Amino acid sequence: MKSTTIFLVLITLIVSLSITAQNSSLDCNASEVNDIYFQQHPKSLNEYKQFNEYSKKFINNLKQNKLSRTTSYVIPVVVHVYGEVQGGLPVDYQTIVNTIAQVNEEFQGLNTDYNTVDAYFMGIRGSLDIEFKLATLDPDGNCTDGVVFHSVASGQANYNSTIVPNDAWDNYKYMNIYITNDLYANGYLFYNGVAWYPSTQMSDDNIARVVYNGIYLTGNTDSETASILTHEIGHFFNLIHTHEGDCGNLDQVMDTPAEILYSDIQNFCSQNVQCGNNVNYENYMGYKAYYGGCYKMFTQGQINRVIAALNHPTRQPLWQPSNLIATGVNIDCNLSVIDFTLENKVIIYPNPTNDSFNIMSNAFNGEDILINIYTILGQKVYQKEYKNAESSLTIENSIKSSGYYIVKVILKNGKQINIPLIKK
Ligand SMILES: [Zn+2]
Ligand SMILES: [Zn+2]
Repeated sequence: MKSTTIFLVLITLIVSLSITAQNSSLDCNASEVNDIYFQQHPKSLNEYKQFNEYSKKFINNLKQNKLSRTTSYVIPVVVHVYGEVQGGLPVDYQTIVNTIAQVNEEFQGLNTDYNTVDAYFMGIRGSLDIEFKLATLDPDGNCTDGVVFHSVASGQANYNSTIVPNDAWDNYKYMNIYITNDLYANGYLFYNGVAWYPSTQMSDDNIARVVYNGIYLTGNTDSETASILTHEIGHFFNLIHTHEGDCGNLDQVMDTPAEILYSDIQNFCSQNVQCGNNVNYENYMGYKAYYGGCYKMFTQGQINRVIAALNHPTRQPLWQPSNLIATGVNIDCNLSVIDFTLENKVIIYPNPTNDSFNIMSNAFNGEDILINIYTILGQKVYQKEYKNAESSLTIENSIKSSGYYIVKVILKNGKQINIPLIKK
């Protein structure tokens, strides 16, 4: 071979080796970004410390059954995608759906490898009846499939990214996930993801978030690597790396053994002793399962900390029944038949309502319209046709029991819209 050819072969080899090396290391900067955030925002650090104290008490009460416990949670999600192809891999609607499904399985303990957890840790496995659901109503009340495609953009993992608040949907109504290939806009395309712990300041600024690399979505990598999104969402609900503080065991969870990040471990996915104890090498919040490919479990202590976080002022509004209606996660909002523009918006007032309420829209405009009212379980409790409807209608005594309802307004041309209604 000519020397230039040898040179080229060598260069190719070095480049491909370094790509493989980059690709195999886990790059979640959650500990670092939260540290920096707290250094720069003392009030938020204070809130964080106080919430850790609250969580401890909350968990004690939970264990002693002193709390009437919510047993299931639904979290409305919006996913912002920056580039429908990232690193040559598809980031389309179906990829997002499959990814959310994997996250749900893992939080719910329905992943198949949940049953093959190391016997030593079988007894402290934890799961939670929580479901992440793509929103079907956007902040304006229009239909959506919960995935918003933007042109390629980077840097959403930088705290001060202007893209983040620009594209955000109300942080108190939706969990916002940003999918991009270049997380820090520095040209390094292999960071896995990052997330911040709950913070009122961040939610007020509409920048609370999970940021994740499209190349590590379900289907774009092996399923164990894709579990890193479960890890990042763990951070979003206040979980800390299991190796935080090394043998100092600073993850604020009692039942996760102390461990250190780097060591002379040979096989990451078998029993290892560090800090004088067996480490929980299969834990979603550690790194060992990433290197070994064996993400399988949260502990019960971690799940309890997540439940406490679900009561944080920034997370609690997400799963309230009224918000599930507002974000449409429990209804079928059929995109094909909806064509209410913003000017033709349908307004219901007062809402919450007592015995009667008004429906107002310029779209009615002398048309024949049909109004159906459903419970959130889909049971029809009211139906009436209004001929030559005025732009404002008064509906009286349509609902007997208090609770959450969906008002479906159907125009003669088939266009329809669902509006959440609360009866006091
Ligand atoms: Zn992490
Ligand atoms: Zn797994």
